[in-house]
Amino acid sequence: MKLTLGQIADWIHAEGDFDDDAVAYGYSIDSRTIAAGDLFFAVKGERLDGHDFVETALKDGAVAAVVSMHWVVPSTVEEGKLLRVPEGEDCVLAAMQKLATAVRRHWGKRVIGVTGSAGKTTTKEAVAAVLGAKFKVLKSAGNLNNNFGVPLQVLRLEPEHEMAVLEMGMNHTGEIALLAKIAEPDWAVVSNVAPVHLEYFPDGIAGIARAKYELVEALPADGIAILNADDEYVGTFGKGMGGRAVFYGLGETATVRAENVHEAGEEGMTFTVVAGGERAEAKLALLGRHNVYNALAGIAAGLQCGMTLAECVEGLRELQPSDKRGEVLHWREATLINDCYNSNPRALDAMVEALLAVTAERYIVIAGEMLELGPDGPALHEASGRTMAKLGIRHVIGVRGLAEHLVAGAKANGAEATFVATPEEAGQWLQANLRAGDAVLLKASRGVRLERALAGIH
Ligand code: ATP
Ligand code: MG
Repeated sequence: MKLTLGQIADWIHAEGDFDDDAVAYGYSIDSRTIAAGDLFFAVKGERLDGHDFVETALKDGAVAAVVSMHWVVPSTVEEGKLLRVPEGEDCVLAAMQKLATAVRRHWGKRVIGVTGSAGKTTTKEAVAAVLGAKFKVLKSAGNLNNNFGVPLQVLRLEPEHEMAVLEMGMNHTGEIALLAKIAEPDWAVVSNVAPVHLEYFPDGIAGIARAKYELVEALPADGIAILNADDEYVGTFGKGMGGRAVFYGLGETATVRAENVHEAGEEGMTFTVVAGGERAEAKLALLGRHNVYNALAGIAAGLQCGMTLAECVEGLRELQPSDKRGEVLHWREATLINDCYNSNPRALDAMVEALLAVTAERYIVIAGEMLELGPDGPALHEASGRTMAKLGIRHVIGVRGLAEHLVAGAKANGAEATFVATPEEAGQWLQANLRAGDAVLLKASRGVRLERALAGIH
């Protein structure tokens, strides 16, 4: 949002000899991507200190920089371009968060926060696609879901936006509460609770559930929670909310429900949405049953905003796979599904089914290890390997670490299965073995960087 430095300084309690009437057109913490007229926040990161980049940011067109009160200003930096905030731990970041809250309040319309263990970005995109059919929506860019990403996204709000959809992520207890304090969401969407980042939660999945619940807890008295009815934990999050909790899913308890879920090969998924006594046929360009849940969250949000069911399913048509999340590629007359962004046992099983719905002569799964599964990791990998072999996958390549158990599970159930230690070796396997008529799924946890197997393949 375009603001004068005077207004900003007022909101973040900054001092300095800057020009009150100068205008900030945008906000940045990265001097490499600064645009003319941006206000630069000299945020201190783990490795780098933004104060070291103030000079570059100003040279490259920043209107001013927000810095710590006690920073020793180099002679090359113009004093009149600095907004100084009181010294303290992460004081510049705190100032940016404070500005985001002030902007959010000044803008004054509906913010929808999206969280969950898996599917946040896709759910955020689905909600924004549906609402975008009728409203001018601000959605968080990409995956910017943490304590600096969220305020930066809030600062992109413009008066003409009618709603905002913001992704909120966390690794620790209290982080979602902080993001909610910054963005003050009116509505919450929660996709699921799964055993990821277990190392930071001594009480296991129950602790993760509580941390996700922080978003629902932060809602105002008239706030609405849009919840996955089929998730053991999220299904309980609406307790005491009465009609302010809306449930989506495939089971009977969902009020926004999908029936007749069908894999339509490369085209994605089709299903019937049942809600409020009405039915509508939906077409989704994303592959895999898990994405039906993400789509339903979008439809539930649309209905809640007064859109008709027909408008909601129409909006869904705008939704396309995001980077490395089910992108379909063709090479050597084979079909490859690049789903390398991340993995978990449930989504892997769902994508294997989606793969088998693609017309092909031979099905291949290149499955990298799934991280952060805790002590059940080996058994969960084994089970995934077993499932895919039973479903009819003939070739399985397990990549790295625990994928060794996936290979064992697949082999024990009749598949030809090979373990390789790196994505590069998986790539070599593809180059040597891929032939026309193959359909290949590539899926792994982010840490594996399985997309490297696709180097040289277009
Ligand atoms: P991050 O924590 O990195 O921000 P995210 O929660 O935003 O991830 P997405 O980027 O939407 O999640 O999806 C990442 C992967 O999670 C997908 O590739 C898919 O494998 C899996 N996934 C997506 N939606 C679901 C879902 N509803 N249930 C289970 N797994 C899902
Ligand atoms: Mg994300």
